[in-house]
Amino acid sequence: MTQTPAAFPETALCANMDRQEGRLRFAGQDTLALARQYGTPLYLMDEDRIRHNCRLYTKAFEEHLPAGSQVLYASKAASFKGMCRIVESEGLGLDVVSSGEIHTAQAAGFPMDRVYYHGNSKSDADIAFALDAGVGCFVVDGVEELLSLEAEAGRRNRRQKVLLRITPGIDPHTYAAVSTGQVDSKFGVSIETGQADAFVKLALEQPHLHVAGYHCHVGSQVFWEDVFERSVLVMMAFIRHMQDDCGYLPEELDLGGGYGVRYVESDPAIDIPAKIASVAETLKAIALRLSLPVPRILMEPGRSIVADAGMTLYTVGSVKEITGYKRYVSIDGGMSDNPRYALYGSKYTCFNVGRMDDPADMRCDLVGKCCESGDIIQPDILMPSTTKRGDTVAVCTTGAYNFSMASGYNRLPRPPVVMLKEGTSYVAVKGETLDDIIRLDI
Ligand SMILES: *Cc1c(COP(=O)(O)O)cnc(C)c1O
Repeated sequence: MTQTPAAFPETALCANMDRQEGRLRFAGQDTLALARQYGTPLYLMDEDRIRHNCRLYTKAFEEHLPAGSQVLYASKAASFKGMCRIVESEGLGLDVVSSGEIHTAQAAGFPMDRVYYHGNSKSDADIAFALDAGVGCFVVDGVEELLSLEAEAGRRNRRQKVLLRITPGIDPHTYAAVSTGQVDSKFGVSIETGQADAFVKLALEQPHLHVAGYHCHVGSQVFWEDVFERSVLVMMAFIRHMQDDCGYLPEELDLGGGYGVRYVESDPAIDIPAKIASVAETLKAIALRLSLPVPRILMEPGRSIVADAGMTLYTVGSVKEITGYKRYVSIDGGMSDNPRYALYGSKYTCFNVGRMDDPADMRCDLVGKCCESGDIIQPDILMPSTTKRGDTVAVCTTGAYNFSMASGYNRLPRPPVVMLKEGTSYVAVKGETLDDIIRLDI
């Protein structure tokens, strides 16, 4: 995949990027100045864009879906206290997948009744921790968790709200590593095998669980036309089937997350409000057809809330030409702050932020500084041939699954997260220091 920075103004990936006097600006701010002020590698996040993305969902929900329907931010996309506060103030709930994400939400003062707790392997300790934290709803992934949760809730003399994670048997046509809805998924209990029926009946027998409804999540970075509509059809048919079978009618149906974002120009743009309107239409039609009430709907967007609100800045360490073979542009970060190309070959758009007016005429691989040949941010891109050591490079659309997937590999300090807001900037997560790296070593 290649890009031509020359065509940038007409084909900007995202409304929050533009260029001025040969420089890339992000959220109206000069990226070169930000790199100088905060150092690199640097995660930038545009708070106004995050809020804008939240509102795309909340407005469409208000307009098209039954009262009490709720947007949950999937915090695994980027979890830190500042993020929790932003989505809280936008009225979203939170989807969490670990004690660590629960702790983060708690520390941010996030209202626990708006927290939904996912995960296919919650330990007894995780379950106890979440109950004591007052997590609003468990999304129960299987029978073992169900029974452990019943026991722990009973011990506390509580009736815990739960959703049951059902596998609808839908292939979202995305990367295998982020597909979760197909019948052989590690997540949830399958309709196709008949196991979901038994799971629901068992859950309904538990005295300390309140089964509020069903959850399904088909996959991530989904563009395929009607994947949520198909989820609605499959899940509403299942609701009808279970009502006939045992009289149970859910109040809530959680459709999961997954709308894709544009990493490169060739990715389609998704009109989220239009999508939600069409999901709502499908829902109402199928409810009518099956003589079912329309349940409250939940969705759990992660990527589409934060991905295009993020950008990573790096400093070029070397431009290496292997005569007759290829060129590498090496930067001061890599798979330790962004493992997504190494994990699933994710695409990215990259710019030399100080040379936006130079022709992008040099084919190269943008690679990191980790001791792995697989430490590639993006292969086969075009950069200006004027690129040299000390230049600042931007990798766009890194707001989701970058900071949250960062590791300490090679003992590289995790970069800071700097939030941009209305022309100003502030540190939302400090960068690690060398002392932070050895903090837990004995
Ligand atoms: C990952 C995940 C999400 C968020 O997916 P995005 O593609 O980031 O929107 C939501 N719900 C569940 C259960 C998930 O596993």
